Amino acid sequence: MKRPSAKARLQSDLRQLFRSMDFVSRHPALKRDTKEARQLAAVYQQLGQAWEFLALQCNHHAGWRKTRQGKRVCKICGTVQGAPEPWLLLPREGTKTIGRRSIPNSKRIFKNRKAATIVNDTVDFHGARLNVEMLNRHRSRFFRDRDWTIAADRLVSLKEGGIECRFDDHLISIKLKKHKRGEQPPYGAFVWELPRKLLKNFPVLLEYDKRRRFVGLTIFRPVPINKKG
Ligand SMILES: [Zn+2]
Repeated sequence: MKRPSAKARLQSDLRQLFRSMDFVSRHPALKRDTKEARQLAAVYQQLGQAWEFLALQCNHHAGWRKTRQGKRVCKICGTVQGAPEPWLLLPREGTKTIGRRSIPNSKRIFKNRKAATIVNDTVDFHGARLNVEMLNRHRSRFFRDRDWTIAADRLVSLKEGGIECRFDDHLISIKLKKHKRGEQPPYGAFVWELPRKLLKNFPVLLEYDKRRRFVGLTIFRPVPINKKG
């Protein structure tokens, strides 16, 4: 006997699920407010979740049909085209891809940071925390009485073992120690401004190429993470 293809199996699973959902939703007990009706309503919710999970396996290759409301719906799984999906399906092996690299999508100046946000998403990945924030140009009232226009920006932050690395369009910054509220903010200086004696406290290696171009830097961890605690 030939094994059914993954697509055929998904299609038949979905058909059975839709039948179960129809069965539950048309059950006469639902007309009264009884314990049985509440149980059936809960079962319907669970079937709805099963539908979401099954729909994640569908690549919508069978095409879309139009509903009376003018929406396009997948012929196999019933997903509405363009509607945000509440779950993501990721492969266990290999690279996981979530979203695309987004760039500012408007020339407008938005009235605040929230309205200007295109993406603000975080993933906790095997203990490392990654946040990507993409903003259009917007106004800020950070300095209370004055209105500032903040340039569009792509902000990426990676937190790993108590260290935060942040990227924006102009800076790459690394914080080894979090600045606490009320504490004096750290000093900042370019390397050439500092005396040699002070530089010896900083375990930083600057990297440059044959043509003396800056190509990178390495920071030696003051306390190696695996020896902490
Ligand atoms: Zn589909």
